[in-house]
Amino acid sequence: MKVTGESELTTYTFNKHVIKHRFCKHCGILPFGEGADPKGVATAAINIRCLNDFEFEKVPVHHYDGKKA
Ligand SMILES: [Zn+2]
Repeated sequence: MKVTGESELTTYTFNKHVIKHRFCKHCGILPFGEGADPKGVATAAINIRCLNDFEFEKVPVHHYDGKKA
């Protein structure tokens, strides 16, 4: 994996345009998204598959049925 700066990312927003989905300009991967929580605190959602030396198998999985929410 090559680590690059923000200039190598592009941003996509949709719906209410409150979350900035950051994509690599070269390969299209989504390493993270940025936004704010309901109280306005800046937050980010990181694609853990983009992290080096991360043991993905050890992350607990919680299934959520969005259809029944
Ligand atoms: Zn890339």
